[in-house]
This record gives sequence, C-alpha cells and structure tokens, in this order.
Amino acid sequence: MALPPPPPGPALELVRGRHEELGGVPIARLLPRRPRRTVGAWCFLDAMGPADAALAVGPHPHIGLQTVTWLLEGEVVHLDSLGVEQPIRPGQLNLMTAGHGVAHAEEGVEGRRLRGAQLWVAQPEATRHGAAAFEHHAELPEVEVGGLRASVLVGELAGVRSPARHDTPLLGAELRGARTRAALPLERGFEHAVAVLEGTVSAAGQVVGTGELLHLGSGREEVEVVVDEPAVALLLGGEPLGEELAMWWNFVGRSGAEIDEARAAWEVGDDRFGAVASSIARVPAPPR
Ligand code: MN
Repeated sequence: MALPPPPPGPALELVRGRHEELGGVPIARLLPRRPRRTVGAWCFLDAMGPADAALAVGPHPHIGLQTVTWLLEGEVVHLDSLGVEQPIRPGQLNLMTAGHGVAHAEEGVEGRRLRGAQLWVAQPEATRHGAAAFEHHAELPEVEVGGLRASVLVGELAGVRSPARHDTPLLGAELRGARTRAALPLERGFEHAVAVLEGTVSAAGQVVGTGELLHLGSGREEVEVVVDEPAVALLLGGEPLGEELAMWWNFVGRSGAEIDEARAAWEVGDDRFGAVASSIARVPAPPR
C-alpha cells in the first residue's frame, strides 16, 4: 500500500538496520525503509559486516541505478559485463552506472575481515535508459570540518568536490573522528541522513549507533555532529526525487511492466545485461 510522502522540512527519524545476509556476509539494511524510502536519489543502503567471511556474490543484473561501494576494511573485486575487473580497498570508490542494463559480480578476498557499505542511487529519466558505465576513484578529496575528517565520495561538502559522476544533485561523504564535534554545512534544498558504520555519533542531538540511520529531513543549513569514541559515519544528501520508484530485486524503474521486462531478459540470458567473467554461479531472479 502506498504511504503518503513525508512532509518537507527538518525531521529526526531513527531507523535501525534490518539484519539480513548477502553473499555470506551479515548486513544491516537501512534503505529503503518505510515511510522514508529514499534520501535524495539514494535508494538503497546496506551496512556490511564486520565479517571474517569473504563476500561472494555471483553475476546479477541491474537497471536504472548506480551502485556505490565503500569499504572500511578488507578488499572486494568488482567484475562486470563491460569487461571491467577492479579491486577496491578502503578509501576508494567503485561507482557503476547500470542505465538500461549491466551485470556484475563481487568477489571478496579470503582471509580478510570485511566491513563497508553498498549503496544505490536511482537514476533520473534523462540517463536511466542510457549506456552502462564504471568509474573507480583510487583517491577522493578530503576536508576537515571542526575535528571531523570527511572524505567526499559524491557531490560537494564544505567547498570540496568529488570527481565522481552524479546524475542528480547529490552528496555522499564519509565522516571520521573521535572526541570532537563539528557543525557540517548542508544544502538547504537537500534531504539528508546520517548512517553509522562504526561506533556511535550524535547528530542534531540524536544518538545514532552502529547499523542505524537518522533521517534529518530537508531545510537544514547545518547539522551538529558529536563524536566521543572513534566512529565512522556516512552523510547522505540529495534533492528530493519527486517521483515514485518501482524497486524490485536489483532493478529500479518506474513501473511493474519495466521490472517484468528486465526480469524476463535476465532469465533468458538476453544481451541487455551481457556476460561477467566470474567463477561464481550466476544469480537467478527470484519469483515475482
Ligand atoms: Mn549488485
């Protein structure tokens, strides 16, 4: 059943991760959840690990979204149907754009502890039917705000801009610090959220623990973040989407018919998604 969209303006809504498992690794799913399913175009967030098991996700398809991979510990090799094979380590960004269709696999490295985040960004009408693409950023710009160190993954924070592609106005930053406080400048027209990957932070006076996400709503010019113990969090933001997404399995579209079409194409091995050179078995679509 469709719920009315949350009203514009500041909010303080805490979400606890729903615990699941992905490719042998425990995850806490923080987006999408009800009633706030998105933060700007950010439409999916899994906090992964910590796990001593290597991630093993076989070839699977995506449409209409970008995947964003960010690690705190460990290493994962990304393989996709564009022919890219790209290891990612902490502090680096993997950004895959699915557009009309792409397939990829994620293979962890054995014997390494894994912790990180997997996010999706919904693509707008202008690019979601377009070509697939992949970017790896080995280094990202950093900025100190108060005593917090921020790595800017996507968009701009405190005058520092990431080179990563984004198709709608968007912000993604990692915040890291201990025994400090900072007032982070925000874009007033964006919705924002803070998700904690390690430790505990206080944002806008609300305590947010590991595997929790705090929706801040829109209309804020700054947010005060207080950190006692060493902590790592993600600050997410973006212009409100203003349209309803149809999300199912690994697909982001606008209608059930689009999703059915993508599912059928994957099940028959259609060229739409291409082939991935992975040693792990292909993931079949669940029943729909
Ligand atoms: Mn994927």
